[in-house]
Amino acid sequence: MSLFDDDPALPSGPDLPPREKVLLVHDRLCAEYHCPIPHFHELDPLSELVSSLLSHRTKNADSGQAFRNLREAFADWPAVRDAPVADVQATLAPCTWPEQKAPRVQEVLRRVGEERGELNETSLDFLEHLPVPEARAWLEQLPGVGPKTSAAVLSFSRLHRRALPVDSHHHRVAQRLGLIPQSVDVGPAHKILEAQLPAEWTAQQVYDNHEVLMLHGQRCCFYQNPECRRCPVLELCPFGLARL
Ligand code: SF4
Repeated sequence: MSLFDDDPALPSGPDLPPREKVLLVHDRLCAEYHCPIPHFHELDPLSELVSSLLSHRTKNADSGQAFRNLREAFADWPAVRDAPVADVQATLAPCTWPEQKAPRVQEVLRRVGEERGELNETSLDFLEHLPVPEARAWLEQLPGVGPKTSAAVLSFSRLHRRALPVDSHHHRVAQRLGLIPQSVDVGPAHKILEAQLPAEWTAQQVYDNHEVLMLHGQRCCFYQNPECRRCPVLELCPFGLARL
């Protein structure tokens, strides 16, 4: 028996409006994955920006290795910026597309240095004092920085601000659950999914929401053959119910 079939006049689980459904999904996935989820590192925001640029379409372990390589090979961020691009590219070998990411990282470091007048671990600390929309807009005027990266810098770095990143796992799970239409790509999904979350939620709750949807995509709602029969949100999921 479903939680929702007491009153047949009310929308049932899979048909709930997204703002109601997202709260139930959040609670069930938080129980499954043990919220609050700890932050996986505490980087300064400039380091988080570089780390995020390396993570595009790359497994976390590989982009993490590339980031460590970069930090070990060069004394500081100005040294990365000014190095021959081939040297930077060599350190990024564990990533996908190191030949594209090396010049992009150098370009971003140049722009940050020009705009802030300095290039070090505190160059982006000023973002802590801007309203989140302004901080995201500042980041998104940098080359190659879109909504996922701007949200990641604010949320995952030591700033711990209230911003919702959406990665490919999060996006897939949200589509299947009907939180966003199938036609909405990852970029535009950011605004829609963040607007569904209660305004009074803390930065930790918003971070948890991203983390549990991402973890669910990694551990149950696989791209191929999602394991719907053991899914704690099956009752809410039109995609999963249609597969039974
Ligand atoms: S029911 Fe299936 S498709 Fe829906 S969220 Fe769960 S695992 Fe994914």
